[in-house]
Amino acid sequence: MNLPNLEEARKRTLKKSLIVKNNYDFKKIVKDQKYFLKTYGCQMNEHDSEEIRKYLEILGYSKTTILEEADIVVLNTCAIRENAHDKVFGYLGRCKHLKKEKPDLIIALGGCMSQEESVTQEILNKHPYIDIVFGTHNINDLPKLIIDSKNKRQIEVLSIEGNVYEDILYSRDSNITAWVNIMYGCDKFCTYCIVPYTRGKQRSRNLSKIVEEVKDLKKEGYKEVTLLGQNVNAYGVDLNDGTNFKMLLENVAKTGIERIRFVTSHPWDFTSEVIDVIAKYDNIMPYIHLPLQSGSDRILRLMGRRYTKEEYLRLFKEIKEKIKGVSITTDIIVGFPNETIEDFNNTLDIVNTCKFDGAFTFIYSPREGTPASKIKDNISKVEKEKRLYELNDLVNKYSLENNKKLEQKQVKVLILGISEKDNNKMYGYTETMKLVNVKLNKELIGHIIDVKITCAKSFSLDGEII
Ligand code: SF4
Repeated sequence: MNLPNLEEARKRTLKKSLIVKNNYDFKKIVKDQKYFLKTYGCQMNEHDSEEIRKYLEILGYSKTTILEEADIVVLNTCAIRENAHDKVFGYLGRCKHLKKEKPDLIIALGGCMSQEESVTQEILNKHPYIDIVFGTHNINDLPKLIIDSKNKRQIEVLSIEGNVYEDILYSRDSNITAWVNIMYGCDKFCTYCIVPYTRGKQRSRNLSKIVEEVKDLKKEGYKEVTLLGQNVNAYGVDLNDGTNFKMLLENVAKTGIERIRFVTSHPWDFTSEVIDVIAKYDNIMPYIHLPLQSGSDRILRLMGRRYTKEEYLRLFKEIKEKIKGVSITTDIIVGFPNETIEDFNNTLDIVNTCKFDGAFTFIYSPREGTPASKIKDNISKVEKEKRLYELNDLVNKYSLENNKKLEQKQVKVLILGISEKDNNKMYGYTETMKLVNVKLNKELIGHIIDVKITCAKSFSLDGEII
């Protein structure tokens, strides 16, 4: 049994990670049994679930989307928001109930939440029906933990990140678009964020291995890859050999895959060279998610974001000037401790200046173990909600305005599937990452087609095939 320790994770300096080949030396252990996998949180977790799914399938489990049919339930959890904990434990209540009817059911909990020491302790003390707990640093131990759980409960969460694994196999969600992990962890330690503690220090993957993975995906027919990391612009810094994100992006562009995207960027590490590469290659999509978090220098300092409002605006301007037709979205937190009305108005000012294509907006909530959680959370819930509504109104206004500019224009859309809201329509994304619904036949799924936009709304566009 191994328990994580957040404080230890923060103080530690990372020894250089070894790059090792992942081990698939295990066999099918079950027949006619089903797995139910539920994923919470960000794209990184979605992609980790594609790895988890592969292990489950190699062991012989097949997928079910009905909890009651499962022989093994795996919850891949998120620790970013305060209510994530309640949601997961609420769901575990259902699993516990099911286990009373199916005593052989295996319940496994993984992801960022299990990296929190308090959560692992809570499971040890209060939730004996959970058979396996694993963390973000040892996903590849899952097959062994499942096999060993037949004899004994398995709680194995590593507080120290280990090797960087290459040649990982995935059971991917889509055969059109694919996540490609380029790095693990984050070194930025923004004061409100739990990620550097739950995901560890930054470790970059080998550049040529990433390019190989993209080439393989292209050969398999994938149209789009999204390079994935907590702070992709810092890719390579930890390798100490001059490798950087600009080099990676350029090499991936040269594979000729049709569409390349990347998330997430930190403004502090975003270089002019990266902007130039995006502008140079047609297959790097003109879409950038550039988290702002706050428009107040005082709050940015308290958040440990390392840039000022002016620096953000300078970067924003350079991106807009150099990359033709680029769309930019952002993340904004309201109600950070001590955020005054003046600070909040500064955030509104920057939204008015940048007129973002969209924004993910959040109410601040403290995460245990982070430096910000030690500052008194002194803004009332009512006030935080009031600021959020005001911000959302503004964000939605600009989102609609930007989308309206596309009406009657021709755009290229990669068609991904049937629209959830209207079965007669297909949905896909423009190069600038705008959701488009269009009436056409299923044969065009996986194709990039020319569409005329007929109606623009705040969050999506309607179009017709040209
Ligand atoms: S850069 Fe992103 S992932 Fe890293 S600490 Fe800051 S908010 Fe968290």
